Amino acid sequence: MLVEKVTPYYRSLINEGDRNDPLAAMVLFSERERDVRPEESPDPIGDVACQACANGRLIHRYPDRALLLVTNRCPAHCRFCFRRERLDTSAPDIDDQELNDVVEYVGQHKEIREVILSGGDPLSLPDGRLLGIIYKLRNAGVVSIRLHTRYPAYDPDRCRTIGRVAERLDAIVVHIAHQREITTEFRGAIARLRAARFLLNQCVLLKGVNDSVEELAALSLSLVDIGILPYYLHYPDLAPGISHFRVPINEAIRLVRALHGKLAGYAIPRLVLDIPGGKGKILLPLTGVEHTESGTLLLTSSLTGEIVEYRESL
Ligand code: SF4
Repeated sequence: MLVEKVTPYYRSLINEGDRNDPLAAMVLFSERERDVRPEESPDPIGDVACQACANGRLIHRYPDRALLLVTNRCPAHCRFCFRRERLDTSAPDIDDQELNDVVEYVGQHKEIREVILSGGDPLSLPDGRLLGIIYKLRNAGVVSIRLHTRYPAYDPDRCRTIGRVAERLDAIVVHIAHQREITTEFRGAIARLRAARFLLNQCVLLKGVNDSVEELAALSLSLVDIGILPYYLHYPDLAPGISHFRVPINEAIRLVRALHGKLAGYAIPRLVLDIPGGKGKILLPLTGVEHTESGTLLLTSSLTGEIVEYRESL
């Protein structure tokens, strides 16, 4: 079971008296997590099948990009985390030998144009270590480096010194799921991350947190107002014990379709789902999806072309 971990800053944003507070739902343990469904898996998007080298640190799923898991630590634990099985505050961060293996692999695979720094949360590493990783990846010929983080929401103070790292990054993707996460402190953190070429947001569609047209629209507009483009809205992966966060897929599609009547195109995130087994991300069609007689969905992998049977777990 994922250990409960919350920063004092984020705890101060929670309405303690509200049992349904959306920020509380994202970080406080719920008994409903004990309800693990047969469709759920500790490796919901097939990371293991795509591990390239170095102790499972590099995930090479798409030809042109690879994900580098530099740490297993996060400032707080999201209760909907799909890599929850990896999170461990005592596990070591990437070491020099592992980094050298990654750099060698990337150097031998010229088709890898972009490396995405992830984890855990990469900002758990000191700035100097991040600069060293970025330097080695650039030397190996990587054109684009992207970093994903939820620090600006959980511990904005961490971003005080981040300018030198940010200016060496092509994109920073923050993971903001509710408009109340956009505080004065958050805006201060974003001002420092702005040295990166692009600032994007991706978040998970979460029942009880942001599953309404009003909240999704308010979140998108709040992000756009501070120069962050909404990029992806993820349908929750089949990670164990998170079925209470899922809405039916056709409801997710209805929500995003409704945004098209309210917001400018650049303010609307793309609704995506990761097909289990490492078969990659697909855009869900806004016209809705058809269920088979047995209640499953037939999804076509953009990565492999396979048609995959997918069972919703609600
Ligand atoms: S920040 Fe990302 S990796 Fe860390 S707990 Fe949240 S979802 Fe998981």
